[in-house]
Amino acid sequence: MRFSAFDQAGITIHEALYYSIGSGFIIREGDESTPIADRTIPYPFGSAAQLLNLAEERGLSIWQIVFENEKASHNEGEIRDYVDRIWSTMCQCVARGFRAEGVLPGGLRVRRRAPALPRKLETEGEKDPLHAMDWVNVFAMAVNEENAAGGRMVTAPTNGAAGVVAAVAHYYWIFVEGASRDGLFWFFLTAAAIGILYKENASISGAEVGCQGEVGVACSMAAAGLVAALSGTNQQIEHAAEISMEHNLGMTCDPIGGLVQIPCIERNAMGAVKPINACRMAMRESGEHSASLDQAIKAMYESGKDMQTRHKETSSDGLATLNIIEC
Ligand code: SF4
Repeated sequence: MRFSAFDQAGITIHEALYYSIGSGFIIREGDESTPIADRTIPYPFGSAAQLLNLAEERGLSIWQIVFENEKASHNEGEIRDYVDRIWSTMCQCVARGFRAEGVLPGGLRVRRRAPALPRKLETEGEKDPLHAMDWVNVFAMAVNEENAAGGRMVTAPTNGAAGVVAAVAHYYWIFVEGASRDGLFWFFLTAAAIGILYKENASISGAEVGCQGEVGVACSMAAAGLVAALSGTNQQIEHAAEISMEHNLGMTCDPIGGLVQIPCIERNAMGAVKPINACRMAMRESGEHSASLDQAIKAMYESGKDMQTRHKETSSDGLATLNIIEC
């Protein structure tokens, strides 16, 4: 995106060019990197194994480790306000997605489906045993239709995959008996810890590792967050995060026409269902399992590096080659 400032005679007095380089990061032309503030945190961790060990040694939950680390930069009130802001932004995004009718911009003529679905679900009532799953779908679709329309959502971990964490948080809030603000706080801080592991050890960029790094990581974050909100153990959190990634490995990025619409909107709905299932599976176990989250993260990154470039956000392969008429 180029920003230009003009004087009254229309002569350019300043220009700056910014690039979105994936994973929610932006750099300015000429800058080699985005500066990241140095800070000393009490509980640094570089892997899921370190995170679990640290938590075990100190008798802390994963969310508490993140909370203590965040306190190195912000006071407690600021952190809680920030998490509240994340949650309210997600809620506003879903609410807007439920209201906004019409066709998404870009030329594919994709109809916004989220507004009609809540009305149908409310009419049908709760007799269908998968009623909650229908709502999870529609929460995710509302967010990703908003994203496709240039609306505001929470990048979690990316905009294209923003529906997953938001939909699972809504599932917790609306369908889990006894859901609380504390539970949401644990949800988001735990999801953040898992997101950090992927960001630090692999990638959350579809252009670098395919959709497994976007929707796959979102699934892993949401699963971990949901286990935390349900007061699962740290081991169950790690297990749920691992299950969620394990079943997203190899997923390519092939948005039709370069628009984050097909398959992205439905992919978020499908992706939002997986973490709930992963959470349920993990919480029926003690946390012991064969493949670790660290191994799943490594497998994802290696698969992503091996993936041919055309499968990674080039819109030149897979679904993107379908002959859908633009008008
Ligand atoms: S297919 Fe590509 S653009 Fe669409 S959500 Fe996945 S990573 Fe993002």
